Amino acid sequence: MRITVLAGGIGGARFLRGLRHLLESRDDQSDITVVGNTGDDIWVHGLRVCPDLDTVMYTLGGGISEDRGWGREDETFAVKDELASYGVEPTWFGLGDKDIATHLIRTQSLSAGYSLTEVTEALCRHWQPRVRLLPMSDDRTETHVIVDSPDGAVAPDGTPLRVALHFQEWWIRHHALLPAHGFVVVGIDSAAPAPGVLEAIAEADVVLLPPSNPVVSIGTILQVPGIAEALRTTTAPVVGVSPIVGGAPVRGMADACLTAIGVDTSAAAVGAHYGARSSGGLIDAWLVDTADAEAVGEVEALGIRCRAVPAMMTDIEATADIAAACLDMASSLPLRP
Ligand code: GDP
Ligand code: CA
Repeated sequence: MRITVLAGGIGGARFLRGLRHLLESRDDQSDITVVGNTGDDIWVHGLRVCPDLDTVMYTLGGGISEDRGWGREDETFAVKDELASYGVEPTWFGLGDKDIATHLIRTQSLSAGYSLTEVTEALCRHWQPRVRLLPMSDDRTETHVIVDSPDGAVAPDGTPLRVALHFQEWWIRHHALLPAHGFVVVGIDSAAPAPGVLEAIAEADVVLLPPSNPVVSIGTILQVPGIAEALRTTTAPVVGVSPIVGGAPVRGMADACLTAIGVDTSAAAVGAHYGARSSGGLIDAWLVDTADAEAVGEVEALGIRCRAVPAMMTDIEATADIAAACLDMASSLPLRP
């Protein structure tokens, strides 16, 4: 089987680790292709940082900090501290010493003319994630968040001045506490899907949406021209897992992101937001946590198959069970022509 997964950072990476474990424990030779979000990418101190690609790569390669969920294990921050002592901004971005090696290699290779796809492939030769990891696009795209100016500035008409912050500044520096009026992915309209991305969706036997952030992870990938259409038209079933459990994100600030785009923070609302493929939407099936079992009827009424399963990725076995439920769900769906 060819399995294609659209992934953000922590939620995507942990799901993938469970999926890979499931396949390997069944001696199943299926290929996993991951389309990773690059809207979170940022240039810091002259380095190109790809937080979501690296989280997937480090998690599957065994080098992730399990506590933080991002960056390298046993990390030190000497370079970051030294930069701060120079008074160089930004000081709020977590740049670990080991992690910097990855960013140096990536930045150097990009400057030498290699594409992000090629650079990611080269980094993965080192990390051996045992999945094919593709950036959603080789083109520069950066998610920005529209907020009222944090310094209280007002427009000439007296209303709060709206400014756009880089997503990372909003998320890490401001902890997503500045109410977001919306998200703008700079560069997305002219971005092309990276080589292999559309084919990976079109030729898949199953497409999975892990419990990644539906707005700034999967939502961003879906904005790359052609990707949402590929999801609508693939013959493969598309199955998603809710990142919202019991009316709240399990981790992170997806509620702030959902509120900004006018979607309720509930498993049913996120499923409805993706929509049924049978009526022009993006998913055929949606897994919610047992805590949200009452959402099943509501989601099914939209034409989306829905099941409640334990959806907390507490350990690799529990995560493998979630992945198994996804594949089960996919195989129970009627074949599409
Ligand atoms: P990020 O890029 O690092 O923010 O990570 P993702 O976008 O891949 O995933 C973030 C989402 O994963 C958040 O919205 C969390 O609610 C969700 N998440 C984290 N852990 C779990 C879990 O154990 N179960 C479920 N269902 N969702 C989770
Ligand atoms: Ca992310």
